Amino acid sequence: MTIDIRPLLNGETNEIKLDFPLSVDEGIRDVSFPESIEVSGSVNNKAGYVTLDLCANVPYRTHCARCLREINGTKTVEFSKPVADEKTLQNNENDDYVVPVEGMIDVSEMLIEQILLDFPYRHLCKEDCKGLCPKCGKDLNEGSCGCPADDPDPRFDVLRKLLEDKQKKN
Ligand SMILES: [Zn+2]
Ligand SMILES: [Zn+2]
Repeated sequence: MTIDIRPLLNGETNEIKLDFPLSVDEGIRDVSFPESIEVSGSVNNKAGYVTLDLCANVPYRTHCARCLREINGTKTVEFSKPVADEKTLQNNENDDYVVPVEGMIDVSEMLIEQILLDFPYRHLCKEDCKGLCPKCGKDLNEGSCGCPADDPDPRFDVLRKLLEDKQKKN
């Protein structure tokens, strides 16, 4: 999505309203974005100080880190940055500013970057998700599975036997 902010830069208007759909093809970690994202916002000129403000409602799909249940949610991501004067900043890479190119701003890339940054590393279906039983795999949110809690891990049986044999030999 490219926005023409020339009417704002040459003083014809003080505000350009924005409203557009955005699709994000790339996922991040276990998060995917199956639906189009609604973006609204504006570019404002307040006494020569130009800012770009965007707000995106992001539908996403992921899985609970503990019980692996699918999670479908919507997250609000906000983006707000000053727009630099392109004459002074054109050759300076500066992430603190949005730098227009010939009066145009490409908002998609920076907004997608912000969306990907804002997503947490792991999601839970609920704060106190009990997860899956490590032995039988039952979803413990649906009730206890009856596995004995203090049952020693069978994988250690081999080790334990090796140790016992070794002790006998000594
Ligand atoms: Zn869960
Ligand atoms: Zn179990």
